[in-house]
Formats: sequence, structure tokens, C-alpha cells
Amino acid sequence: MNISHIEHIGIAVKSLESAIPYYEKVLGLKCYSIEEVADQKVKTAFFMVGQTKIELLETTDPNGSIGKFIEKKGEGIHHIAFAVDNIENSLQECESSGVQLIDKTPRAGAEGLTIGFLHPKSTMGVLTELCEDKNKK
Ligand code: ZN
Repeated sequence: MNISHIEHIGIAVKSLESAIPYYEKVLGLKCYSIEEVADQKVKTAFFMVGQTKIELLETTDPNGSIGKFIEKKGEGIHHIAFAVDNIENSLQECESSGVQLIDKTPRAGAEGLTIGFLHPKSTMGVLTELCEDKNKK
């Protein structure tokens, strides 16, 4: 597998509206995109930090994965996403190494990326996302 950088860090928040001012006014970052990913029952807000993004995640459904996460653990870091050059091969490599996959086949994520999640049971508790930007090529 070839990881080039941390693509983004996903942070679960109760409300984008109340979280965004902290990132903009206190940290001085600029929210450049707000996008709803219906498939994942989330509304996302993105900030660029160098070549890494911060992805704030607000649930659109209390039974969605972010809704459940916040109910169990409260707001906080939800996942880390690595940029890979070949998502299909990377997921396959993980599986052959005995890592449990949440997504056996890649799917569409926010920001036009193709993504797949690894199960936190296999990654020392860190929900891990691999993503490939297929539009870049
Ligand atoms: Zn993500």
C-alpha cells in the first residue's frame, strides 16, 4: 500500500453551526465546503490545513453512525483518513493481512473521493478510512 499523506481527520460534532465559528474565528481556518452525504447520513464541513483537511461531521439522523457515536462517546475525533493511490488494492491488501473491513468494495465519499473503512477492532480502536482521489488522474 502506498499512503501519501493524511487526507483528513473526521471530527464528530453535534452541530456544524456551533462548531464552525471555533474553527474560523479562533483557529483562523476557512470553511470552503459544506456537503451532505445522504448515504452516510451526515452533513460535512471542510477546512484545509496544509494538505490535510479537517472534516466536521454532523448527523442528519440520530440512528446514523455519527449520531450513535456521539450518543456513546460524545463529540470528538471520529476517524483518520489516509490518501492511497489505489483504493481497491489497498483494501485487498488490508484484508489479506487479516484486517477486518467495513467496506469490502470502495464507495463514494464526500469531496468526490472513493473511500473504504477499516474496522476499529482491527486497528487498535482507530476507525480508519482509506481514500483515493480518482478525479486527480
Ligand atoms: Zn472521512
